Amino acid sequence: MGKKMENVSACLSCGACCSTFRVSFYWAEADDAPGGWVPVDLTEKLTPHLRCMRGSNSKSRRCDQLQGAIPGALCGIYAQRPSPCRELEPYTAEGRVTAQCAKARATHGLPPLPDVPAMP
Ligand code: SF4
Ligand code: SF4
Repeated sequence: MGKKMENVSACLSCGACCSTFRVSFYWAEADDAPGGWVPVDLTEKLTPHLRCMRGSNSKSRRCDQLQGAIPGALCGIYAQRPSPCRELEPYTAEGRVTAQCAKARATHGLPPLPDVPAMP
């Protein structure tokens, strides 16, 4: 998902969180709303106020825009990804692995990242 610079290298060889959680967000992030940026055709309606990435509401929880095999899968719409993808970071500001990252990696049989991010 979306990353700060020091987190990019860990995520480039992963992609697990894009196939673990339902990726839902306020509907107006989709580009059928003024100022929206996520291609609406790649999303589906959840509630009157929420949309989600297609695929992420399926049993596999795999976003349709994830390209390649985990670990090493990449986002096909990186510049247009919705806010939850931008906000899910592998590390806290203190350099600890986040719970969401650890859960996603465990779901795919991957060990948690080491505390303290690797330098890019
Ligand atoms: S599970 Fe963690 S390391 Fe993997 S892509 Fe998501 S945030 Fe990055
Ligand atoms: S839009 Fe991209 S970053 Fe977000 S879940 Fe899908 S593949 Fe991952």
